[in-house]
Amino acid sequence: MSDKKNFETLAVRTQADTTQFSEHSVPLYLTSGFVFEDAEEMRASFAEEKQRDLYSRYSNPNTNEFIKKICLMEGAEDGFAFATGMAAVYTTFAALLKSGDHIVSARSVFGATHGLFTKYFPKWGVETSYFGVDEVAIVESLIQPNTKFIYAETPTNPAVDVLDLEALSKIAKKHGVLLIIDNCFATPYLQNPIKFGADLVIHSATKLIDGQGRVLGGVTVGPKDLIREIYLYARLTGPAMSPFNAWVLSKSLETLAVRVDRHCENAYKLAQFLESHPKVNWVKYPFLKSHPQYEVAKRQMKLGGSIVAFEVKGGKEAGKKFFDAIKMCSLSANLGDTRTIVTHPASTTHHSVAEEDQLKVNITQGMVRCSAGLEHIDDIIADIKQALEA
Ligand SMILES: *Cc1c(COP(=O)(O)O)cnc(C)c1O
Repeated sequence: MSDKKNFETLAVRTQADTTQFSEHSVPLYLTSGFVFEDAEEMRASFAEEKQRDLYSRYSNPNTNEFIKKICLMEGAEDGFAFATGMAAVYTTFAALLKSGDHIVSARSVFGATHGLFTKYFPKWGVETSYFGVDEVAIVESLIQPNTKFIYAETPTNPAVDVLDLEALSKIAKKHGVLLIIDNCFATPYLQNPIKFGADLVIHSATKLIDGQGRVLGGVTVGPKDLIREIYLYARLTGPAMSPFNAWVLSKSLETLAVRVDRHCENAYKLAQFLESHPKVNWVKYPFLKSHPQYEVAKRQMKLGGSIVAFEVKGGKEAGKKFFDAIKMCSLSANLGDTRTIVTHPASTTHHSVAEEDQLKVNITQGMVRCSAGLEHIDDIIADIKQALEA
């Protein structure tokens, strides 16, 4: 398969080898182990003189296929697939950090990632310094001699802010530190951080990569030498993706482009509707001209993504009323599903964060995060409209 093919073609045509039974659709290799011809083959395989699957904690035909597809989509050399997005985040850090290292991270990161930085890494002697989404200019001043990574997500969760990947990568390269990007909100279809200079890219495959709210998964991709370190740590600690989930997710990737196109179309139309609604204070969507980082978003993203953030007039009480009036959309904390989901970050995903700290990551009391689904846009807008006017 030539990698000169287009994204959609790679997504559909990259498959595990099915020559034995000529299946058109790759079967599920639900096996924990693999067998060997003789003692010599076994020795050579374990010594890595021979490339083959040994045990599904290390690799499996289904996880290999999933990793290969993500690598082609992201323009990465190699990768490793994990049971969840958090297993990918945690293992990437744990494999590459040592006690005494330092991280420079965007303040606006996924809650569980923030929990690792604040609750667990300090007890292993790893400290983190933070910058706001509009403070890329201070990143350089946060770098210390022991800084190992710059870490960020873009667009961010839940405020849909956008960080300039090229600017971050320039700083990382100048100081010889790695740039690690959680690319979950954009998916490999909308944004390839490696093209803008990132070293490692992490995904929670649970979100838009699955896209149907079924399975958990994660993946980290990047240069061979770094992935090797991550692989060796993962081999010992066991966070590998299940072959079943890899099989589901590989098939999901076949439709990623068409699904994400429609998610983005619906999100953009919803954002335009909200911008014109009198009960809405503000709307944030990367491809709206009013977005503070619109130019950056246009430069690094193919489309604006599936998430819209907006603020209902009237603060927390109005926010609550809005949620109680929702009829069709799902009240849930997930995102990237076929079903449109509305979330109130201040009282749910970020309830444990003090109000002043919520404001530092652009979460206000009346803010709603909406993950636009694949229902007809008229029905999505009708539900949001009646809830705003209730
Ligand atoms: C959901 C999410 C994760 C964690 O993924 P899980 O699969 O739930 O472990 C990490 N980063 C971002 C940006 C996410 O949205």
